[in-house]
Amino acid sequence: MSKRIYLCLAHMSGNEMKYIQEAFDTNWVVPLGPNVNGFEEDLRRFVASPQNDREVVALSSGTAAVHLALLACGVGPGDEVMVQSFTFCASSHPVAYLGATPVFVDSEEDTWNIDPDLLDKAIADRIEKTGRKPKAIVPVALYGMPYRIDRIMEIGAKYGIPVIEDAAEGFGSRYDGRVLGTFGEYGVLSFNGNKMITTSGGGALICPDKEAKDKIMWYATQAREAYPYYQHEAIGYNYRLSNVCAGIGRGQMTVLEDHLAHHRHVQAMYEELLADVPGIKVHKAPDPRFDSNYWLCTITLDESLRIKGQENAYATGIKTAIGGAAGVIHVGGGIHTDCEPNANVEAMRLYLDAAGIEARPLWKPMHKQPVYATSPAYVNGVSESIFKVGMCLPAGPCVSDEDVRYIVSKINEAVCA
Ligand SMILES: *Cc1c(COP(=O)(O)O)cnc(C)c1O
Repeated sequence: MSKRIYLCLAHMSGNEMKYIQEAFDTNWVVPLGPNVNGFEEDLRRFVASPQNDREVVALSSGTAAVHLALLACGVGPGDEVMVQSFTFCASSHPVAYLGATPVFVDSEEDTWNIDPDLLDKAIADRIEKTGRKPKAIVPVALYGMPYRIDRIMEIGAKYGIPVIEDAAEGFGSRYDGRVLGTFGEYGVLSFNGNKMITTSGGGALICPDKEAKDKIMWYATQAREAYPYYQHEAIGYNYRLSNVCAGIGRGQMTVLEDHLAHHRHVQAMYEELLADVPGIKVHKAPDPRFDSNYWLCTITLDESLRIKGQENAYATGIKTAIGGAAGVIHVGGGIHTDCEPNANVEAMRLYLDAAGIEARPLWKPMHKQPVYATSPAYVNGVSESIFKVGMCLPAGPCVSDEDVRYIVSKINEAVCA
């Protein structure tokens, strides 16, 4: 295979080296400095709107941003946090870091994101059962799709619970014209290698004001007190972004709009080219208020659709590193679990893989993950049923029009006549 088409590979603008070189020339090879400040300013300007000024702190990862947002909302041992179940583990793992319990809430069909009605009922039930309010609500912009933030904010206000928006996959997505991450108390962004833009690894937390920003910065720099020597009165973290990585971020900000336009263009192509393929549906925004960045494009396969090689779809276990975690192989217990994509979805993944195309199952809902077996979950069956029929297709800046046409031709080819 001469070329492989990946889901979403990092793509440099050509401006990154200038900022990195500057960091070396001025000897700012540390987790603070002009690039960190410049990157934060670029981000602040991007998320700002006239009626909604925010502050931004650059951090070492999106996971760190979730962690510090929870901490700032007062989450501690024994607390509960309402988390969208249909997500990547970084939305809920930091809840566990803090000794708190994630309470998972299932999705609605339209956006695949947290179901507001179920969230409302779940919070009422937690209060009744535990006598205490959950400490935060974490909706997630899955694959970039905006959540029903108007409803979620209403529910947050009704119970007096802060909302932490996990917009790690939804950088640049908008709801009703406003950038995700600027509605809730805090907004999480990620600049991991496969996200909308990258700093190689990194993230940011959108904060409501200067005071909140200062508090997050303090937590992110080991919670140092103002003395000539190291004085500590609270536990802190080493979570600041390095000035070298922030240089990459500044370069990437110069192509953010191009990346956003590209992902949306790729989505439009899939929508058009797959429109008439029976049994395959492209997931799209329910209405124009939901302005997704289409970080990844996703499809669902009808259960009755037959795919070539389907009989052998789960015949062999995974022996290679999966996804972005290059080199990490932790051999699991077997080939099947009690919740997995249908055989035709796995067959399609294998068929595309053999054609040099990376496709991937959807994220397996957290309430179906063994590690969260004891966490409460409010379930309506939606995320599990979508997980079984869905898959992600390449959408990143390196995916050309020709690639999309090739991918669609291979999808068509994989379907049994
Ligand atoms: C990527 C991601 C994160 C965390 O990002 P990292 O920068 O990889 O730590 C958080 N939540 C979701 C939903 C993500 O996809």
